[in-house]
Amino acid sequence: MCAMIPEIYGSLVFNDRVMREKLPKDIYKALKKTIDQNTHLELNVANAVAVAMKEWAVEHGATHFTHWFQPMTGFTAEKHDSFISPTGTGEVIMEFSGKELVKGEPDASSFPSGGLRATFEARGYTAWDPTSPAFIKDGTLCIPTAFCSYSGEALDKKTPLLRSMEALSKQAVKVLHLLGNTEVKSVVTTVGPEQEYFLIDKEDYKQRKDLIFTGRTLLGAMPPKGQEMEDHYFGTLRPRVAAYMHDLDEELWKLGIPAKTKHNEVAPCQHELAPIFDTTNVAVDHNQLTMEIMKKVADKHGFVCLLHEKPFDGINGSGKHNNWSMTTDTGLNLLDPGKTPAENIQFLVFLTAVIAAVDDYADLMRLSVASAGNDHRLGANEAPPAIISIFLGDELTAVLKAIEEDKLLEATKKVAMDTGASVLPHFTKDTTDRNRTSPFAFTGNKFEFRSLGSSLSVSGPNVVLNTAVAEKLSVIASLLEGVAPEDLDAKVHELICKAIAEHKKVIFNGNGYTDEWVAEAEKRGLYNLRSTPDALPVFIAEKNVELFTKHGIFTESEIDSRYEILLENYCKTLHIEAKTLDDMVSHQFLPALEQTIDRYVSIALKKKQFSASISCRSEEATINALSQAAEAICDELQVLKTLTVKAEQTEDFLEQAKVYQAEVLESMAKIRALADAAEESIPEDLMPYPTYEQMLFYV
Ligand code: ADP
Ligand code: MG
Repeated sequence: MCAMIPEIYGSLVFNDRVMREKLPKDIYKALKKTIDQNTHLELNVANAVAVAMKEWAVEHGATHFTHWFQPMTGFTAEKHDSFISPTGTGEVIMEFSGKELVKGEPDASSFPSGGLRATFEARGYTAWDPTSPAFIKDGTLCIPTAFCSYSGEALDKKTPLLRSMEALSKQAVKVLHLLGNTEVKSVVTTVGPEQEYFLIDKEDYKQRKDLIFTGRTLLGAMPPKGQEMEDHYFGTLRPRVAAYMHDLDEELWKLGIPAKTKHNEVAPCQHELAPIFDTTNVAVDHNQLTMEIMKKVADKHGFVCLLHEKPFDGINGSGKHNNWSMTTDTGLNLLDPGKTPAENIQFLVFLTAVIAAVDDYADLMRLSVASAGNDHRLGANEAPPAIISIFLGDELTAVLKAIEEDKLLEATKKVAMDTGASVLPHFTKDTTDRNRTSPFAFTGNKFEFRSLGSSLSVSGPNVVLNTAVAEKLSVIASLLEGVAPEDLDAKVHELICKAIAEHKKVIFNGNGYTDEWVAEAEKRGLYNLRSTPDALPVFIAEKNVELFTKHGIFTESEIDSRYEILLENYCKTLHIEAKTLDDMVSHQFLPALEQTIDRYVSIALKKKQFSASISCRSEEATINALSQAAEAICDELQVLKTLTVKAEQTEDFLEQAKVYQAEVLESMAKIRALADAAEESIPEDLMPYPTYEQMLFYV
């Protein structure tokens, strides 16, 4: 096996090695230039690349090609065309042109556009993104593409991401040049997303309407044992799960996805997979593919892979940690403190930009992870709170404090320094602290944004991060412009000091799960946007519209359309959940409850028949309790129906979302509490669907 990995790794990817092999030298060079420097691609180059791509794909068994894109549904989309082209003599040849490679015209009318593209103007187009390599999936050559309307508005998750990477690169290069690092031509952001997921048995899944329709269980009592022993975390993999992970790794490796670590998570049946980080654009594509392949491989193994943020109540849900940094084309990680004072200065400048960005745009960061599913996690003591703050660790915090208070020299007396090169100290990364409760933690040479939900496309959070940091870098650049070299150190020092004083309120190294922090954060004036309807309006807040339009990430109409789609999506999700709960309770749970009552009644009657003096106290108690429960559930179901109609009839989407969040969800919770309590009295043979115990402990 081990010997095979290098061979299978990337075997289904049209990567640099294949390009070098298959393309004429001048074509390869031109393509590389397009990829690395974002230059225009000539048609003759596109044609030559298309021919090579097709040849390679056909050699690997492909018969079709598709433009693979990421519409705002959060999933990926593809429309397959075959390579065949009739020759006129009853035969076919396999053809693929440069035009087909660079541009596609899928019927776009059914993808969400939030009013951007009137439905009569159904045409949208897909455009090749040469910075993310093409790959073969299920006999189809998949070409990563951006998806836009004919008037050029972004209809997908890739376009704004590419724009944000460009914006950050532009500003970062400017700052680096001003700091004297003039060799750098471009900066990319890098991302390593750690992905959590659940595996449950396919047969169990098929019997649960809630999992099928909503991705999470809407009912279900906790078994006697939950995750309290924490005996699952990093535990030995069960053979069936190990076989799944083995297969999954292999499938991912073939696609050039560097899956690296895998382990059990805290909750039973929960696992995690982390790849080695990559350029953000590629990492986002890979994460989308990873989620897809996870589901597909699960199916082969008789499992279903659940990517919902909260599939089971009472045990941890699933998230995704977005590890993020910035790297220059000269190979320098800008969030690495470095070894020399000059590197340290550079690091501190970029660190300052990140801190300022997160502080000023914490609302957007919160928005970028908002979804109905993630609302169950954030602030529920299993994931970071909804309040966005930064964890820096004690050492780095102390360094910043010393800088701010100008006690730097004193604080760093013991540190060896280059003669007069700088007043900033050399320090090493803080390895001691692993604060799991922080939404945004510095982990030595990168930040880890931990608020993402497991099913989310990682595009959105990175668009926000890249753009906000680009903005802060542009401010720094304007402060450094025109400063004489001999004044540079002092000027940098001053701007770092100022930024620390202004933004230190967002730094918090303590336990984010406590009530004290919630109170403290409020005092500090930090945002606490608890639910999705609380968070969504920040998208259209003036300061944020200004940010996005200034850096060319979104136009105003693109923002409006995305805001509308997010709201609509939230409402639809809750609507489906309410309907599904109603359906399961009415058609499955209540009948089971009545059958249980019936069983106890008949036992009691038989006992009485057997002997009039025999006691039926336990049966009577159960009959009474369950009858009351059934009534209470019926009553609350009526409330739920009424509220669902009320929500549906609320015209304004934001108001509608609030009705779902504040009223419909509450009614659902009441029904669930009643049903879960009653479930404990239902005999196993009368349960209409698999219980938590069966799903979570018998895989
Ligand atoms: P953990 O957070 O579980 O301790 P690691 O710190 O080893 O794990 O890494 C987590 C993820 O961070 C991995 O996907 C890794 O590739 C990624 N990572 C490491 N360095 C960077 C970087 N410079 N930029 C982005 N991601 C990175
Ligand atoms: Mg991590």
